[in-house]
Amino acid sequence: MYDIIVIGAGPAGLTAAIYARRASKTVLVLEALSYGGQIINTPDIENYPAAMHISGFDFATKVYEQAQELGAEFVFEKAVGIKDNGSTKEVITDDNTYSCKAVIIATGSENRKLGIENEDVLVGRGVSYCATCDGAFYRGKTVAVAGGGNTALEDALYLSDLAETVYLIHRRDAFRGDEATVNALKERTNVKFIYNSNVTKLIADKRLTAIEVTDKNTGAVTVLEINGLFVAIGRIPENQNFAQLIKLDGSGYVEAGEDCVTNVPGIYAAGDNRTKSVRQLVTAAADGAVAATEAVRFCQET
Ligand code: NAP
Repeated sequence: MYDIIVIGAGPAGLTAAIYARRASKTVLVLEALSYGGQIINTPDIENYPAAMHISGFDFATKVYEQAQELGAEFVFEKAVGIKDNGSTKEVITDDNTYSCKAVIIATGSENRKLGIENEDVLVGRGVSYCATCDGAFYRGKTVAVAGGGNTALEDALYLSDLAETVYLIHRRDAFRGDEATVNALKERTNVKFIYNSNVTKLIADKRLTAIEVTDKNTGAVTVLEINGLFVAIGRIPENQNFAQLIKLDGSGYVEAGEDCVTNVPGIYAAGDNRTKSVRQLVTAAADGAVAATEAVRFCQET
């Protein structure tokens, strides 16, 4: 019986483990793949306080080692369900069942991918899923943003302050995101709109050099020479295994506010898998601290 089980060893889960151990709780962290989560794909972090120019992998390794040093246990198994017994919970993995008093779900979310050839290989070499993380590398350069939701619109706006030219490529002729942001973008002279089109090919030597864009209506293919492509076509939260117990919103995120409290007492959600407006390394870490503090309180009260 552990006090707290943390599901997911990304920045939110690892921070939760650190906080729970510092409160002297026994902690098991379950991770399906390897520690670090999405941040390990980031080549250079420069927006986390005091961590100037550190790779995502090095950052994650430090936090992992910190949690280990403080006494968190790690098991690399995929959590496939949670059973709520009131003051105790069971977390079921592919291989085992673990008991605890409180659970923190910090499973994160995946970027929805375009699903075209070499997309994975070119991440960090011209393909990015995070404008606020990587935009600064494209100062004075030419970039494209794929997508038509608020993330794509805000990314395009953010990038238009940095890049020389921003192509905004959307598969329809009407944006899903807010009109006000669309209007703000239309006032930028360096933003070029490409409607009814999909990015269909990535052209690269060692880095991305150009993309092919196909007009859905005419089939016409245009080659755009760009330095960076920002893919902003939505995210896929990794909560489906817990959907029977935990309330999710229409997009699959755990319905939990800034206190990380879910609909089930003793179960908390931290990081990118919960409803929130800013999904960043620093907010994931903040969630970990908040969720752990709540979980510790639950353990003490039950
Ligand atoms: P989203 O609202 O789901 O939009 C995804 C966009 O990508 C849509 O325009 C969609 O096209 C397009 N898309 C999806 N799959 C595609 C594919 N395979 N190929 C090409 N295009 C594809 O996602 P989001 O923009 O990340 O926003 C997620 C949520 O966070 C939304 O509720 C959003 O309002 C919110 N958000 C809020 C703020 C804010 O309040 N400041 C900022 C960012 C995000 P279609 O339109 O044709 O479906």
